Amino acid sequence: QERDALFRKEHNIHVSGNTVPSPLIDFAELSSRYGCKAKLLRNLADLGIKQPTPIQRQAIPILLSGRECFACAPTGSGKTLAFVCPMLMKLKPASKDGVGAVILCPTRELASQTIRECKKFAEGSKFCIKLMTKQLIRKADLSKFSCDILVSTPLRLKLAIRKKKVQYLVLDESDKLFELGLLKQIDCIVKACSNPSIVRSLFSATLPDFVEELARTIMHDAVRVIIRRKNT
Ligand code: ADP
Ligand code: MG
Repeated sequence: QERDALFRKEHNIHVSGNTVPSPLIDFAELSSRYGCKAKLLRNLADLGIKQPTPIQRQAIPILLSGRECFACAPTGSGKTLAFVCPMLMKLKPASKDGVGAVILCPTRELASQTIRECKKFAEGSKFCIKLMTKQLIRKADLSKFSCDILVSTPLRLKLAIRKKKVQYLVLDESDKLFELGLLKQIDCIVKACSNPSIVRSLFSATLPDFVEELARTIMHDAVRVIIRRKNT
């Protein structure tokens, strides 16, 4: 406990919540602590990703423990890998049983950026990672639609795909998501993703009070993680 506290201080990680899982010392711990497959670690190494960033050190163990996470860390600090890594470790690849994880992004541009990142991390695996596009919406029977990770804007997701199997729901750039007045749509999606063991998380670069308040309405026992820039 004390060692965790020291380590967090060293990396500017501020946490609050019940029994917060220990932060990651390095990526190798993903295999020793959580049985991560060698393939994912090799992909990270190939991408030049050697050490976890502070948000990754803390958010990954939280999500792997099945805890809700409310995370705030600067732009460019690797938030995407922080929420995608647990999905790639826990979801069964190429599942034909609905959608495994949903990542909501405020704009189409951010959604396509996120999907590019996801695909890099999942390179060479069987994971099916899809962007919600107009073409996909036009597909005849979306109720049978399956993929492992679905990236979408809230507007596009308001349709009859099976959402009961969703195990991870991420609201990325949640400050912008809420600012864009997408509250109703988001609320709809949160309710539709009704898997009782769903792991919800919010990620953003800033933490206005209204985001914190909204977070509380959809999360119950979340761990709050704040990463401050050094020397500020
Ligand atoms: P954020 O969402 O916090 O703004 P991103 O997830 O888009 O940041 O990541 C920014 C860049 O950093 C991406 O190109 C990503 O591949 C890279 N990156 C992520 N994690 C690491 C890491 N641990 N070490 C080095 N680079 C990383
Ligand atoms: Mg991001």
